Amino acid sequence: MVNYKDLGLVNTREMFAKAIDGGYAIPAFNFNNMEQLQAIIKACAETKSPVILQVSSGARKYANQTLLRYMAEGAVEYAKELGWEHPQICLHLDHGDTFELCKSCVDFGFSSVMIDGSSLPYEENIALTKKVVDYAHQYDVTVEAELGVLAGVEDDVVAEESHYTKPEEVIDFATRTGCDSLAISIGTSHGAYKFKPEQCTRDPKTGKLVPPPLAFDVLEEVEKKLPGFPIVLHGSSSVPQEYVDIINSHGGNLPDAVGIPEDQLRKAAKSAVCKINIDSDSRLAFTAAVRKVFAEKPGEFDPRKYCGPARDEMTKLYKHKIIEVLGSDGKAE
Ligand SMILES: [Zn+2]
Repeated sequence: MVNYKDLGLVNTREMFAKAIDGGYAIPAFNFNNMEQLQAIIKACAETKSPVILQVSSGARKYANQTLLRYMAEGAVEYAKELGWEHPQICLHLDHGDTFELCKSCVDFGFSSVMIDGSSLPYEENIALTKKVVDYAHQYDVTVEAELGVLAGVEDDVVAEESHYTKPEEVIDFATRTGCDSLAISIGTSHGAYKFKPEQCTRDPKTGKLVPPPLAFDVLEEVEKKLPGFPIVLHGSSSVPQEYVDIINSHGGNLPDAVGIPEDQLRKAAKSAVCKINIDSDSRLAFTAAVRKVFAEKPGEFDPRKYCGPARDEMTKLYKHKIIEVLGSDGKAE
């Protein structure tokens, strides 16, 4: 048994309480490799932003769960070395699908876990979530649950259609499970193709796709039912067109990739939404930077010469999200 507190990590309880009071949201960034983690920590240390480091099932398969956990432990020390006196770093399991997986993360030093029972029938989702909460709370590990279904593809999480969260269920769900935060479905979705072209309109000037707006009415209803309760948005990348354009003009092929406009996320961050998950945008930043180096310097074969620029581009992206979208800068001195 490893307690996350001994690793210098924090759970989400205080972060979320402050974020709701302060009208901002905590960034939840996924990480799969060293460059990505360096970029996240550098961006957060420079902006003094609390952060949630997320480990997905795809990341566990790619990089190994044990290694990722030790990397997160190293991240705390790295943050201090960068001059961040009191780093507020949470290590979170993204989309845990079984009790056993959540338990193994709790036992191994994660400070927060998500149990995603959203694809299960309502009562089964409650039973599974409660089981995880009962275990995790013994060690002061916080638990995120999900109600409603997000469309899109994220590692092993695949859903054809989205189903908005039903506001009439949230009180019963939160009370009976004891979960600490709730991921809801209001129209965000996983991946870089969040909407089909037929769900969007086209900007007559640029010809680019304009996605449908998020269901803020559903969010408002949820907030009314659970005042002050932490709400989470998954699938909230914006798919910056400048990265898509760099990728496409340097040998890539990402037709009609589209995300959630940042003004909508800015609005959400000011509400009870206190955790916003961003993954695809950093993949795009990384890929754009690498493709550019490969196109401009075909003779380059030192991975540091293309992973380095990719890391710099991700750092820039994370800082932009923290300062311009989530408003979490300066919240963890
Ligand atoms: Zn997700």
